[in-house]
Amino acid sequence: MGLNSSNPLQKEIRCVICNIDIKNINEIFQLSHNLGVICQNCVKIFSSEDIEIMTYLFFIYGGYFGKFDQRTFSLPEAIKSLTRKDFNPKKQILIENLNERLVHKALLHGISPIDLVKTLESFLNR
Ligand SMILES: [Zn+2]
Repeated sequence: MGLNSSNPLQKEIRCVICNIDIKNINEIFQLSHNLGVICQNCVKIFSSEDIEIMTYLFFIYGGYFGKFDQRTFSLPEAIKSLTRKDFNPKKQILIENLNERLVHKALLHGISPIDLVKTLESFLNR
């Protein structure tokens, strides 16, 4: 067996945002809040604020950025499915939680928080 054969001690290290398997240890970016590591590419494309939101939401709700096809995302459908699940007149709807889950749903479809805001704006201005 050569040195490059798979080592059972070497665990797969995945980016908590895009789920890519980070092969090069030098390309790992450790997050300050300890919710995992992210790849250099995600460091490059996302703002630190977006990274914070995304790592938090993926930690809480699971999944990763772009898990589903972006074209299958529908804002009205996403809102409908979330409100259906949460609608209970006897219980106060947790707006903050709804908001979080809407952002999370968008992220799963590869839509960043800033793109979601743009989508919301154009939806409301139609
Ligand atoms: Zn990444």
